[in-house]
Amino acid sequence: MANKFLKVKCPECGGEQITFSRPAMKVNCLICGKELAEPKASKPEIKAKITKSMH
Ligand SMILES: [Zn+2]
Repeated sequence: MANKFLKVKCPECGGEQITFSRPAMKVNCLICGKELAEPKASKPEIKAKITKSMH
């Protein structure tokens, strides 16, 4: 599966940022620090709302 860019929206503060669809490490919100994505062996868990997917 290809690693894509995702535009995600933080459920906590509504701030938007770009992350990978398969992050190598935990992704936290740049504004409030909430955990937005967590890498998992099987499937990464994206906890934020994905607003856009980019190739
Ligand atoms: Zn936030």
